[in-house]
Amino acid sequence: MLFSIRSLLSLSIILTASGGFARTHDHPHKQAVIESIDTNTANLIDISDRIWAYAETAIKENQSSEALASYAEQNGFQVTRGVAETPTAFVAEYGSGRPIIGILGEFDALPGLSQKAVPFKSVLEEGGAGHGCGHNMFGTASLGAAVAIKELIEAGELKGTIRFYGTPAEEQFFGKLWMIRAGLFDDVDVVMDWHPNAETKAHVQSSLAMVDFEVEFFGQAAH
Ligand SMILES: [Zn+2]
Repeated sequence: MLFSIRSLLSLSIILTASGGFARTHDHPHKQAVIESIDTNTANLIDISDRIWAYAETAIKENQSSEALASYAEQNGFQVTRGVAETPTAFVAEYGSGRPIIGILGEFDALPGLSQKAVPFKSVLEEGGAGHGCGHNMFGTASLGAAVAIKELIEAGELKGTIRFYGTPAEEQFFGKLWMIRAGLFDDVDVVMDWHPNAETKAHVQSSLAMVDFEVEFFGQAAH
């Protein structure tokens, strides 16, 4: 299965090198991150493959969300499921005090994009859902990065809190909006994420907030 270990490494290394955490030397931390990823690669690929196969769309990502939440729990994170009144949204946290560093992980699939695990178009189930833009990797690799940081905190190499946000319904209902409204991002110092792409690079584009509104038109109906 496709899995971008290099993207995962990039995210972890950016986190350790960002200066967000109190640090000693960059190099030992980078080496520790690389070793953490190497150690956990089989587990992470397994989770990514499972989420690919579940191919669950917005708000219905029960198995996908649970695969990530339980892995976080096995790795010593304190997990709160069903946050923001959304059954598949969760927060997993490790450490204490500041800084509080957030990492986002998405895991929902897209309707109508059922696809076999091959690098060309081949429908697995006619009309079924599929991972069109790699959210099976998105959530998994983000959590892998969070675990690598957690291990450094556990070893006393970094101070602070690492918080993984399991953010559902990215493709259809903007799941993060409800998590923001529930105040889950109020105390966080910085939030990072990544997305599968054709190349490995750091992306520092700005993002505009989205304001949703309804418009009602009156008059003669036309096409
Ligand atoms: Zn996407």
